[in-house]
Amino acid sequence: TQIKPRKVLEKIKPYSPGKPIWELQEELKLDKVVKLASNENPQGPSPKGVAAISAGLADLHRYPDADTVSLKEAISKKLTVEKDQVIVTNGADELITLISEAFLDQGDEIIVPSPSFSEYDFGADLMGATVVPVPFDEGFQFNVERMIDAITDKTKLLYICSPNNPTGTYLAKAEFEKLLKAVPDHVLVVFDGAYSHYATAEDYTDGIEFVKAGYPILVLQTFSKVYGLAGLRVGFGVAPREVTQTILKVKEPFNVNSLAQAAAIAAINDDKHVEVSKESNATGAQTLYKEFSELGLSYVETMSNFVLVQLGPDAENIYQSLLEKGVIVRYGKIWGLPEYVRVTIGTEEENTFFIEKLKEVL
Ligand code: PMP
Repeated sequence: TQIKPRKVLEKIKPYSPGKPIWELQEELKLDKVVKLASNENPQGPSPKGVAAISAGLADLHRYPDADTVSLKEAISKKLTVEKDQVIVTNGADELITLISEAFLDQGDEIIVPSPSFSEYDFGADLMGATVVPVPFDEGFQFNVERMIDAITDKTKLLYICSPNNPTGTYLAKAEFEKLLKAVPDHVLVVFDGAYSHYATAEDYTDGIEFVKAGYPILVLQTFSKVYGLAGLRVGFGVAPREVTQTILKVKEPFNVNSLAQAAAIAAINDDKHVEVSKESNATGAQTLYKEFSELGLSYVETMSNFVLVQLGPDAENIYQSLLEKGVIVRYGKIWGLPEYVRVTIGTEEENTFFIEKLKEVL
């Protein structure tokens, strides 16, 4: 065909998520496959969320609430922010795209600590903006000074993912405050707190307090992780009103389906499921640390629900051999970390299966 796509699309590579369980099962005729590749909640969905879906089935002939009023209310109550400071989207992924569409002109710059979540780059590429990666310090620690130095007149967005995907490291509150104070008026700070529920460090901030204090930041969260609703696609942002109103201009009216809205409203108040999920995650992290240490493997201490572990120059082969044995983890090459894999903390049984297979292939 002679129809030319937009020039900027030449840069965009197809997104490759972790292999689905069924695909590996079919490919290798495996009975058991354990997927620890997408940082999902191994405890399953919030039971309250699931119950709310059943109740919503009878109304499927209706369009969902375009303004997600009840869900915004539930979020604003939970986080004690104003309703118009909340925007709800079809997964946090959609929010990242919408932020990009709303704020990025061609030639603008975004600052992203590197390595981090790939969707930030996608949003910038889509709009013809330039990604300015800022490397981490030793041990994947954030370097705020380097981020401040990277700001130019063209900078529009500055991303902080804390805890960061794929490293599991976080930005301490005092450092974040230092960054916010140094950021000029023309830059929106996007704080990705997809994993913030898992962070237990005393000096961690989930960023919400800074929205309340009036800083120009947008905090992004998701129902895909601790709430266990990844399949429903619900995410949200909390930001000053001017920011949420700008993003609303590019949002499709019915972007969040009615079952997803109902489930999210129930899940955000399912404290028990959140607690159980956090506890199992903390125990799982300790198990993995212990096993990695015994195997002589270095790992990055995590504030999240995954661990980045260094397997050495043979990492790609080990990753492949694990696949053949029915364990799906994420190979680090996509983040420029060819000696690492990222493993989601699973249930006790899943962690044991992973370690057993790892020992076989090492
Ligand atoms: N931010 C980060 C850091 C993530 O890891 C993910 C999910 N992989 C998202 C955002 C997107 O989450 P959602 O499922 O809500 O699109």
